[in-house]
Amino acid sequence: MAVNRLIKRLGGDDRVDLLRAVRESDVSPYFRVMESVTAPVVQVEGADRIMLGSNNYLGLADHPAIRRGAQDALDTFGGAITGSRLLNGTMDLHLDLESEIAEWHGTEDAMVFTTGYQTNLGTISAVVGKGDVVAVDAAAHASIRDGCALSGATIRKFRHNDVAHLEAILGETADDDGAVLVIVDGLYSMEGDLAPLGAVSELCDRYGAALMVDEAHSLGIFGEQRTGAAELLGIDGHTDIRMASLSKSPSSTGGFIAGSRDLLDSLRVNARAFLFTTSGVPAAVGASLAAVRLIRSEEGEQRARRALDNAAVLRSGLADNGLDVGALSPLPGGRETVTPIVSVHIGDDLEAMNLWRTLFDRGVFTSAALYPAVPRSGAMLRLCVMATHTDAQLRRAVDVISETVTEAAA
Ligand code: PMP
Repeated sequence: MAVNRLIKRLGGDDRVDLLRAVRESDVSPYFRVMESVTAPVVQVEGADRIMLGSNNYLGLADHPAIRRGAQDALDTFGGAITGSRLLNGTMDLHLDLESEIAEWHGTEDAMVFTTGYQTNLGTISAVVGKGDVVAVDAAAHASIRDGCALSGATIRKFRHNDVAHLEAILGETADDDGAVLVIVDGLYSMEGDLAPLGAVSELCDRYGAALMVDEAHSLGIFGEQRTGAAELLGIDGHTDIRMASLSKSPSSTGGFIAGSRDLLDSLRVNARAFLFTTSGVPAAVGASLAAVRLIRSEEGEQRARRALDNAAVLRSGLADNGLDVGALSPLPGGRETVTPIVSVHIGDDLEAMNLWRTLFDRGVFTSAALYPAVPRSGAMLRLCVMATHTDAQLRRAVDVISETVTEAAA
């Protein structure tokens, strides 16, 4: 059949085979069916499981204020707005959300996209093009890499968090005519480590490169205002393009860019993933607005602190039991920090998949980070805490995970 040739050309064959094999063996961590709201304990396929596999870091997914924001927007605007932002898809909620985000980030302007993926795709492909260079961390999120590929710019990948490698690349581009854009994640979603933003920002200044930071996983958690890793590491004022998703801590969907008015006006007319898609469903925009307001409040501050405290409990519990949870992230002044993502290094994909399944059966839902989401032989169990996990839930998870991983290694 003609379509089979198409599937092969897309390079999907190997992955489809793998998908089918794991589906048949029923160890697959993929496409499991959630049957309840994303809370510290979730119902998945008929049983309660401690949820360590979500991005609901602040535990806001079932917060009454977020539910109310979504419900009010649904009541006012119905199920969908049925148009792009440019034409009939901009609601007053969008404008309120954008001015709230700009005020929060201390930027001239902000712009909300339908998803975080589209935010990166649309922004990167609009700001750089043929003749320009993008220097991007090897572990940067897929949406960043896809945006780079779509842009037509020359892509220079540097080793994960390797500032010397980035400097070497910037040195090589110093005499080029085109623009240079450095793109990093503030907090890496698989490894759970922060980018060395101080050093990266300094290099950008020295070599005349612009800097874009994706704060998808750090928004709501880091910094006094909780705008993310750039704020925590004191370079928020030096970040030209501040990106975040609204789908993790804010527990909605959408994404945004905060920056200068010139940047945002240019994106409004050039970012194709903004122009040629329907704006987010009203419930998502309403939930996002409520979530941003909550994150900025005192309750937001308490939840962020609680998420990091919970991460410390999980991390030290696993490390004390001999599991490899990697290094803490360095901060200026020789200090270090936990992040809400604790990754247990396993190595082999199949072993990680089997561990995932045993943990699932023992009542703990995790994420298996397998190749190509991580480098080959770099499989991990990715654990994400919520501010709302109780101590008892975390201790139970530590016991089950430690026992399961140790058993498998024996
Ligand atoms: N950037 C990063 C670092 C992400 O982890 C994700 C989501 N996994 C995105 C962007 C895309 O965001 P969204 O899920 O809102 O499309």
